[in-house]
This record gives sequence, structure tokens and C-alpha cells, in this order.
Amino acid sequence: MNGLMMPSQLTLTAVMRHAQANFPGSEIVSFTADNPTHRYTYADAFARSAQLANALQALGARPGDRVGTLAWNDYRHFELYYGTSCSGLVCHTINPRLFPEQIAYIVGHAEDRWLFIDPMFVPLLEALAPKLSSVEGFVVLTDRAHMPDSTLPNLVCYEELLESQPTGFDWPSLDENTAAALCYTSGTTGNPKGVLYSHRAMVLHTYGVLMPDVFALKGSEAVLPVVPMFHVNAWSIPYAVPAVGAKLVFPGPKMACGETLSRLIREEGVTIAAGVPTVWLALLKYLRETDSTLPSLNRVVVGGSACPWSIMEEFEQQHGVYTHHAWGMTEMSPLGTYNPRVPEDLPGDQAKALRLKQGPAAFGVEMRIVDEQGQPQPHDGIAFGALQVRGPWICERYYRAAESALTDDGWFDTGDVATIDPRGYLGITDRTKDVIKSGGEWISSIELENCAMALDEVAEAAVIGISHEKWAERPLLVIVPAPGAEPDPQKVLAAFEGNVAKWWIPDDCVVAEELPHTATGKISKKDLREQFANYRWPEEQPA
Ligand code: ADP
Repeated sequence: MNGLMMPSQLTLTAVMRHAQANFPGSEIVSFTADNPTHRYTYADAFARSAQLANALQALGARPGDRVGTLAWNDYRHFELYYGTSCSGLVCHTINPRLFPEQIAYIVGHAEDRWLFIDPMFVPLLEALAPKLSSVEGFVVLTDRAHMPDSTLPNLVCYEELLESQPTGFDWPSLDENTAAALCYTSGTTGNPKGVLYSHRAMVLHTYGVLMPDVFALKGSEAVLPVVPMFHVNAWSIPYAVPAVGAKLVFPGPKMACGETLSRLIREEGVTIAAGVPTVWLALLKYLRETDSTLPSLNRVVVGGSACPWSIMEEFEQQHGVYTHHAWGMTEMSPLGTYNPRVPEDLPGDQAKALRLKQGPAAFGVEMRIVDEQGQPQPHDGIAFGALQVRGPWICERYYRAAESALTDDGWFDTGDVATIDPRGYLGITDRTKDVIKSGGEWISSIELENCAMALDEVAEAAVIGISHEKWAERPLLVIVPAPGAEPDPQKVLAAFEGNVAKWWIPDDCVVAEELPHTATGKISKKDLREQFANYRWPEEQPA
């Protein structure tokens, strides 16, 4: 017997309508290349999304067409999110920091018909244009006064495109399984793969993100997504914030600029901000150097890679800001787990151990760990295994792939190795391909990196496995010194004593000027391993 409730479809159009009806005056503030404080309301934003939808229709857009964006976080990108998805098109966000050949591959694979680009990416697109055969036109996200000179064919100014269009649009009634957005994984192995998000998945994920033990957003808050809108829909903040009517604050191209972030947080009364660890390092450094504070900021969400304790400690002790550790991936929209506030009465070392974990699964995500034979492992916080997940906002198949991305029994293998403890807390140990196996036992590079990052003289740390005659592999620590520091590698290694099992302590420590990073700001272990391909352990070096 079926239930007898309304078959309303879960679509982003419903999110937009809800925000329009209930919070038309909520603000969106952006730093853009042509204006350091652009300010308008949700009502303005959705009127312009309607103008964009009209313009795209006039250009001949058909349902399901992919519209590519290469843009920072600002109000025009926000208009694109809704103007495309809610009119039945697919908003394909592209990471401009990828290698140019990868961008050309992605645009070609997605068959994007138009690209909406920030002015600073015009030279990049000029170089790629001959390879972008699916693209019919390039729209520069600026006004007439700031249009760059360019050789790009069919170049259009965004403000001119919108200008003459009506501010109302007859939004179609979409089936909730209609594709809304497309994002490619960065493809550290092989070509990037497209994850095609449906409206339904985005709406359910929005509910998941808003839960009290997750982002817990309130309408009275101001939210700063430092996580880019070109990477997994900025962790769905552009959907979740309008759902509750909070204020949105966009940092534009200034994501890594401590000064801009701190100004925006102070001036706009930001209460919650979200981003990868590297952006917080930049902000904390700026605050330290200028002796500044962030009175309105209440919490930050850190994910994308493991959050070092030093970030949590400095935020909390110097600024009274709580750091929530979250884990997810492009294929998961991205929310998997979220670490809520620890109970006040938990002793310090237990609280620290708990907060360094990635947290329990958000409702909507099921997790399990399995051994090499696919056998589920106990959730005792000790057993390691390949982490597998399932749920309504998790990818079933990559875009244009012939085969399912799931295991035979319907789970998605995350490519991470993890533990799950009896309370359900996930502890990510490594990515499968970064795992270090010494004498048949796993060593967690993430835990070793946390240990090194706790030292004042260390700005960044990475641990990779290097082949070893006796143990098959042993960990090598590579550190970047903090400004002005000259760490002694032997003392750094000595600091591991008592903090990790003796046999986990890296066999050597190398000081480097910098570490290679991926397009999403994570340390690229793959490039680091290549850099150290000829490394020899001290005892193996010729005398
Ligand atoms: P890519 O890094 O390839 O662009 P994603 O952004 O989807 O892809 O990254 C997902 C991966 O990032 C996860 O599978 C995991 O390895 C890592 N990751 C994300 N959040 C965390 C975290 N809090 N702690 C440790 N690793 C994390």
C-alpha cells in the first residue's frame, strides 16, 4: 500500500522558491574582481537567475545541456547555480587550477555548450579554445567597463547578456531525478571522472548538511564558503544557506588571502566559515601577524584533508572559534561525516583524540570497512579496512561511464582506509594509494603528519612510504619549516617518541622549501613520491 502524501519533487527550484518567498531581503555580499564589496539581496539574485535562464533559452539551450563555469565564489556564480539547474540545464563547475589539458579533456567530455568565465581566466581559455570544439560561446562574468580584450570567438559580456532579459522565468516542473550539476574528480589516477548530481540528491544533502550536529545553520547567521564553488558545489553551502535564509559572504578570487578573509568576517559578522586546512593556515598566520581577532566567528568547518591539531588549537585558544572536522568526497556531494562538539566534561586528551577523528556518519550515509577479501571488519576503532559507503547522495555511476561504480553488493568504495569506533566515529588512516605498509602492518601517514604539525617549527608536513630492504616500506617525513625556523631533523623525529608506536616513527626527516599541492590545495603525495623516487635511506647511501 502506498502512502497518501503529495508527490512534491525534491528540486533546487523548491529551495529557490522557498528563499524567494521567505527571505527576499537576506543579503549576499561578494568580493569580485571588479568590486571589493558587492552587496544585494536574495530577491535580486533570483531575479537575475531568471534573466540568465531567459538568456540561455534565447541562445537555444535545451534541457540537459551542460553549461560550464570557471569562476570564483561570488554572486554571479551563485546566479549561475540556480539559473542553469532550475531551468533544467546542468551547472558544470570546472576547477581552473587543473592542468590546462585536464580542463580541455573535461570540457570535451562534458560537451559543454557555453563557458561562463571570470575575466582572469580569459588567457587560459584563449590558449585552449582550438581544443574546445563543443563550446559555442564564452561569457565573461563582468560588466562592459571591465571586459578584457580577447581573441576568444563568440565572446559575450555577462551583464550585457542579462540586461535586456525579463526578471521572471517560467521555471519548469522538473522530475527530482533530473541532473542539476556536474563536477569532475581531480583524477590523480587516470582521467578525471564526472559526478552528475541530481536535484533530489542535492536537496537531501542540503537537509543532511543543515542537521543540528552538522552545520546547524540558522537564518540569523552569516556564512563564508572559502571552499570553492568549483569544487563539489562549495560543500552545498549555496543550497543550504538559502534554505534557511542566512547571509552569504563570498570571497571571490581572494580565498587564500588572510587579510580579505579576516576583513569579510569582521565587517559582515560571519559566524561560520568552511574550507580546506591550507586556507586556515593563511588566515591564522595573518591574524597572528596583525594581532587581530574575529569576534563574530563561532565555528569553522575543516575538511578535504585531515585537519592538524595545531589549527584546532590556535582557533580555539586564540580566537574562541570551534573547529569541526568533516570528511567527504566529490562522489558523496560531498558530506560523509561531521565531528560535532565534544562533551564539555570529556578530559583533554580524550577530547583531542576524538576531535582528530572525522566524526560519525551524517544521517543519509551508511559506512562500513572491509578487508582485502571484502569481509566487513568490526567497528572497534582498531581494525583498519577499505571504507565503503552508500546513500541517496552518493554516486552510482560516473558520467558517460558504461558500468556502475559500485561493488557487486551495492557499495561505493571510497579509496580511503579507515577505522570506525564503537560510537561510529570514522578515523581516516590514509588514501588506499598512500598507505604505508611496514613489515606487513599499516602505518597511518595522517597520524604521523599530525604529530609533526604539532611542532612550532613545522609549517607543513607529509609522510610517504619509501621502499626498504627489510621492512618492504618505511615512512619518510618531509617538512616545510615555519617562517624563520630552522628545525633539526633529528629533534623533529625525537618529538614522535611517546606520541606514536615506536615502529611507526619515520626513519628519516627531510627539510624542503615547499610541498607539491593538488588543484584543490591538498598535498600531492603522488608528486612527492615522484620527487623522492631516487631517495635512499641514510644506511643505504654509499659511504
Ligand atoms: P580530490 O582530492 O581527488 O579532488 P575529493 O576532493 O573528492 O577529491 O577528495 C576526497 C578525499 O579527500 C577523500 O577520499 C579523503 O581521502 C580526503 N579527505 C577529505 N576529507 C578528509 C578529512 N577530513 N580527513 C582526511 N582525509 C580527507
